[in-house]
Amino acid sequence: PPHIEEAKRARLAEVFGFDRFRPGQQEVVDSILAGVPTLAVMPTGAGKSLCYQLPALVKGGLSIVVSPLIALMDDQVNALKLQGVAAEAIHSGKSREDNVAIWRRVAAGEVRLLYLAPERLLTERMLAALSRFSLGLVAVDEAHCISQWGHSFRNEYLGLGRLREIFPGLPLVAMTATADRATRDDIVERLFGGQARVFVSGFDRPNIFIAVEDKKDPARQIESYVRARPGMAGIIYRISRKKVDETAERLSASGIRALPYHAGMSAEARAANQETFLAEDGVVMVATVAFGMGIDKSDVRYVLHADAPGTLESYYQEIGRAGRDGQPAEALLLYSAGDIATRRRFLDEEPSPPERKMVEARRLDAMVGFCEAVTCRRAVLLGYFGERAKACGACDVCRDPPKVVDASAEAQLVLRL
Ligand code: ADP
Ligand code: MG
Ligand code: ZN
Repeated sequence: PPHIEEAKRARLAEVFGFDRFRPGQQEVVDSILAGVPTLAVMPTGAGKSLCYQLPALVKGGLSIVVSPLIALMDDQVNALKLQGVAAEAIHSGKSREDNVAIWRRVAAGEVRLLYLAPERLLTERMLAALSRFSLGLVAVDEAHCISQWGHSFRNEYLGLGRLREIFPGLPLVAMTATADRATRDDIVERLFGGQARVFVSGFDRPNIFIAVEDKKDPARQIESYVRARPGMAGIIYRISRKKVDETAERLSASGIRALPYHAGMSAEARAANQETFLAEDGVVMVATVAFGMGIDKSDVRYVLHADAPGTLESYYQEIGRAGRDGQPAEALLLYSAGDIATRRRFLDEEPSPPERKMVEARRLDAMVGFCEAVTCRRAVLLGYFGERAKACGACDVCRDPPKVVDASAEAQLVLRL
């Protein structure tokens, strides 16, 4: 209906001050406003909050946002308040008096968005209190916390599946940046009872050139790669602490400012190296996966994976640390079938349940598929996340397409002989 269309645009400009939607946002907003159970999968920073905040404001009344962390709630509430939106959070980081005062405002109909942790929402008292409102929607942020496949599983999130029965007909929406198939299916199953429209978008980082090279002599390959990019900040990922140390030493010995980072170092040494990497120009960080969470350095020019990560999720997360400034950046992965075989062996030896192993094995298969791709590598990567993409022109395969042997012509020849 046109009035909803107008209300949406007006809110986007007036409340959020944005003149247009980012890729994927509008589809999600429309789906939510149409009352369809909706799961939106978008990477960090893509703008997921707006996808439920805007529909909540358009619908009016009170809407609930479920969030796992006090810090996340406070950030969002503060941002909304600055924009003049009546948002509040009730959580254990506040005094009882504060929480009571906020609840009074909620009860008086003065609050549009109320942020709650799942365990608080699911108390009988809260549910009874909320049943007196006609809620606009319930949004579950960081929805991957409901999945046991992820590393951030939270028991309290499991209970959120009850919301469908508690609030029948209430628009339920969920947001996550974790995009792999298993987690997504898990969210749809546990939170939505199997029925939800799933949107995946915003994963492309077009300024990062993606390439894979055969791993032959990694020490030499790493060194010549770094040498060819003098003065640039870069991250080199290695699979083990030992390899991190070796690589950092070798680069340092040849005059490159390279620093190690792994969990085997003291907290002080790690912090010092991270600080140097952030503060100085052109430092190369050689690290295990322990490095990178929450690191915001905009001018990282390359990420070099000298050992293949175990999943495309990790790979994507890690290359995403390059080129945050939007300037050209590169991601190179050194691929060897032996590395993958090692990972498979680790997996076999792991004492985890068989279905978990199967998921991990499939993730590894996808990694191999990416490394051995003969079509656009970016399309393969985004396709894995469920996002459709055309050939990109900014990967090694697009730049230098493999020569395809015409197997059918060959077969005909054989048949004729
Ligand atoms: P996510 O939850 O996906 O990590 P956020 O919702 O926190 O991301 O949004 C990240 C940033 O993007 C915020 O600063 C937000 O204001 C901004 N943003 C969101 N939507 C738009 C838009 N349509 N235009 C411009 N900026 C936007
Ligand atoms: Mg978010
Ligand atoms: Zn491509």
